[in-house]
Amino acid sequence: MINFVELKRTYDLYACEYEEAVLKAMRSGWYIMGKELSEFERQFASYVGSKYCIGINSGLDALILAVRALGIKAGDEVIVPSNTYIASVLGITENGATPVFVEPDEYFGIDAEKIESAITEKTKAILPVHLYGQACDMTKICSIAGKHNLMVIEDCAQSHGATYCGKMTGTFGDIGCFSFYPTKPLGALGDSGAIVTDDEKIAKKLFAMRNYGSSKKYVNNIVGVNSRLDELQAAALQVSLKHVDDGVDYRNRIARRYLTEIKNTSVILPKCNPNSRHVYHVFALLSNKRNELQKHLFDCGISSLIHYPIPPHLQKCYTYLGYHQGDLPICEKYASCELSLPIYNGMPHEEVSLVINAVNSFKG
Ligand SMILES: *Cc1c(COP(=O)(O)O)cnc(C)c1O
Repeated sequence: MINFVELKRTYDLYACEYEEAVLKAMRSGWYIMGKELSEFERQFASYVGSKYCIGINSGLDALILAVRALGIKAGDEVIVPSNTYIASVLGITENGATPVFVEPDEYFGIDAEKIESAITEKTKAILPVHLYGQACDMTKICSIAGKHNLMVIEDCAQSHGATYCGKMTGTFGDIGCFSFYPTKPLGALGDSGAIVTDDEKIAKKLFAMRNYGSSKKYVNNIVGVNSRLDELQAAALQVSLKHVDDGVDYRNRIARRYLTEIKNTSVILPKCNPNSRHVYHVFALLSNKRNELQKHLFDCGISSLIHYPIPPHLQKCYTYLGYHQGDLPICEKYASCELSLPIYNGMPHEEVSLVINAVNSFKG
């Protein structure tokens, strides 16, 4: 069986470096809020091109704390794409604020043309998600935000290294949120995440917030949480960061093969925005016979996934928001037609060929 992702293969590419780094951190006797974390924060801020990086213990916590640090609360509205992973929306609702969904464009990200009609007097921020590793139209989104005096929170959980017009995702808005979940373009060996910002005030608040709200030991000026990035993960992440661009290049080579060698006219291949450097966290096809295609691939020994089968507005947990089937037809259509092919750093090219042959042999 060709697996959708095999982290062991990615790990093995850099195993010696990971083992050395983690062993060193383990032997240091210092496990929380130490040198490894501050070194990773420095390196990641520099990679992204932000002034500050605050290590957090997951991508979801990064989103929750980012929304909170900007003062967004119950009664406020945040514009978010309808086509996203649920965590983008949880970051809003965990703060009691209301998500307002905007449909995706042909690149799967939020359709910037549809944002203005979703703005009300309660709108506080726009939360674009650089879905599948491709940047949204940040020029347009930032100009709308500027015009309406809204904040911008970028969900970069899938877009490490992705750029729009040559500028890194995470640096356009007031705040950028990253996940380092192991399968992400920059992965740890467990849970972790980070927030980047250029704003010193927001950064200071977040450094305190992640550590019980304490900027000085036993002095708490704000109500915080425990959401720290530990030393072993920070050590491993420095190794992952060193090779993050190799991973981007490797996945781009696979994507190039899928885009040129898949000839089956019954599937729609993903469109790449010419202004963006796609990092292909996910390679997303569309097919009107998606379930049959998935079964055909399975019969050929290939696993594939659906990102995502149920959009957030139709999840049971969000019944209270009052949305129904048919309210957001574009993202619902994607949910019924999307299929993701295996694509990861270390995937052997013979397996890529088998995936291509299997897609091409599907009678659509
Ligand atoms: C993975 C992901 C998150 C959540 O990150 P975790 O580290 O798993 O909490 C948030 N948003 C998007 C778009 C994601 O893909």
